Amino acid sequence: MLQDPSAEAAELERTFIAIKPDGVQRGLISEIVSRFERKGYKLVAIKLVVPSKEFAEQHYYDLKERPFFNGLCEFLSSGPVLAMVWEGQGVIKYGRKLIGATDPQNSEPGTIRGDLAIIVGRNIIHGSDGLETAKNEINLWFKPEELVNYAHNSENWLYGK
Ligand code: UDP
Ligand code: MG
Repeated sequence: MLQDPSAEAAELERTFIAIKPDGVQRGLISEIVSRFERKGYKLVAIKLVVPSKEFAEQHYYDLKERPFFNGLCEFLSSGPVLAMVWEGQGVIKYGRKLIGATDPQNSEPGTIRGDLAIIVGRNIIHGSDGLETAKNEINLWFKPEELVNYAHNSENWLYGK
């Protein structure tokens, strides 16, 4: 049994993860998906989409004043993006750890960006940076019926209950 009742709610934590067009074109989908899957997180939604420029601008709205905003949105809308929702205890924060620092020059080896990318403008993956952002991004990219609720076979083994 879980000792901390709040942990039960935390288990339902979800984050939005997207493989950007560079990651898709470089054939890194299975490599990246497997890192989340092997960790024990549960895949709740997945789809391949080419977002419009307007959609990309919505996704990166918080960065609209930054000098790289336009190029970033052009790039995100330049080809297929693999949009996903992953669920698990602490997945928002730890997902960012798996991804690594924004600039791959600073990402640790062992992280996705550290192992697989070189420059900040082609850092192959996006991950929500907090609870509110995760909710907003999941709502932006997915309809509620696209999120699949199911029991994960290894939950007992992962969470010890
Ligand atoms: N970015 C960039 N130049 C910068 C900073 C960020 O091109 O100097 C891009 C980079 O692709 C990054 C994205 O903008 O992933 C969003 O920036 P953010 O600061 O949110 O980084 P992230 O959350 O992706 O680590
Ligand atoms: Mg960010």
